[in-house]
Amino acid sequence: MCAIVGVFGNSAAARVAYYSLFAMQHRGQEATGISSSNGEHIKKVKKRGLVTEVFDEATLSKLEGDNAIGHNRYSTAGSESILDAQPIYASYKLGEISVVHNGNLVNKNEVRNALIEEGAIFQSSMDTENLIHLIARSHKGTLQERIIESLDVVKGAYCFCIQSRTKMFAIRDKYGVRPFSLGKLPDGGYIVASETCAFDLVGAEFIRDIRPGEMIVFEKGNSEYKSIQLFEPDPHICAFEYIYFARPDSDIEGKNVYATRKEMGKSLAKECQVDADLVIPVPDSGISAALGYAEQSGIPFEMGIVRNHYVGRTFIEPTQERRDMKVKLKLSPIRSLLKGKKIVVIDDSIVRGTTAKRIVRILKEAGASEVHMRIASPTIEHPCKYGIDTPSYRELISANKSVKEIREYIEADSLSFLSVEALKTSLGSERNYSLVSFDGNYFIK
Ligand code: AMP
Repeated sequence: MCAIVGVFGNSAAARVAYYSLFAMQHRGQEATGISSSNGEHIKKVKKRGLVTEVFDEATLSKLEGDNAIGHNRYSTAGSESILDAQPIYASYKLGEISVVHNGNLVNKNEVRNALIEEGAIFQSSMDTENLIHLIARSHKGTLQERIIESLDVVKGAYCFCIQSRTKMFAIRDKYGVRPFSLGKLPDGGYIVASETCAFDLVGAEFIRDIRPGEMIVFEKGNSEYKSIQLFEPDPHICAFEYIYFARPDSDIEGKNVYATRKEMGKSLAKECQVDADLVIPVPDSGISAALGYAEQSGIPFEMGIVRNHYVGRTFIEPTQERRDMKVKLKLSPIRSLLKGKKIVVIDDSIVRGTTAKRIVRILKEAGASEVHMRIASPTIEHPCKYGIDTPSYRELISANKSVKEIREYIEADSLSFLSVEALKTSLGSERNYSLVSFDGNYFIK
């Protein structure tokens, strides 16, 4: 999952990167890091923890220079090592280099094993490290040529920001799976970031999205950036960014995430009407879709469940028992509102079914007479291999149970999911989306 940012040609580059990472904290909470170049050396700070925990005035003032890149890492169980934090830095034949990456390289093991065969020593378990090795081993004369050569080898979903002492390269894979946007800073220089919500915080003006297959090059002494189209674009923008992952105030490919989620809620109301007294969201993930559902159905919207914001995301808890407890700590009902009412409860997705089951129980225990669950995305039947952290087939409830069986498991009075067709309509027909979790079409071969 993760967030990346690059800031070039701004004297407060590391600070701008810091604020941007703060705005994109939802994309990863395990570790964070920034590297910054003053033209002669690249300095870096990376640590486990949240952006505000890792950086303070003292650390930020050490990160001098007008060229900085940063990263927030998303936690997946088992890989908690600090060695897996980014940026990844190396010194090599042409100088120094630092890299941040959002996405997933699908031929990670193949490339890594081939490099190990040739004598490479790896420091981390990250796929991103492959790119550094390929760049370091290339015989081309410039970093730009080495990057281009290396990108012919790595396959998958990626947005990279690669920093040398005097340059920065921002690259998006030809499918454009993960979002990546370009902006202009008010006091000089440029910014590239995973989400446009970062631009709003630092006052940057949105220029455009980086195109699928495009590399943007920033160079010291050159106030304009250069664009090179490396690969023929074949857009497959991740639908899950719109459904769940991105922040509602971000725009991806010109579409506002909040508005798109609301549209999904409206489509859900058109497809799966139900006679009810109240529409309530699972906070916070179901709010935008529930507003759309309420608007379309005419059923009043209420915040029937309150969320405790001091508990992190439930999903990253390694055991089922801890996940169950955390959902309980996180969500509680407003009893007086729910008692005796027929409720439609909306969430953005069901992955393992933990949240849905708990929510139905909370609502029933609070006295709701009927609980109808409506999900603003289709059934997730396949793991995403392109950077969204969905579990294996074994854990995905929709890969193992029919909708009827899931309804029984979560003990709802009824359960419906948005159809794939309605999802596509809500997203709009002007471009292609990556729908792998729903249709199993693994388009990156
Ligand atoms: P689950 O409880 O396992 O069914 O997960 C569904 C809940 O987790 C929903 O409330 C979603 O908003 C949220 N969710 C969905 N996908 C992810 C993901 N990849 N990472 C973290 N949370 C997610």
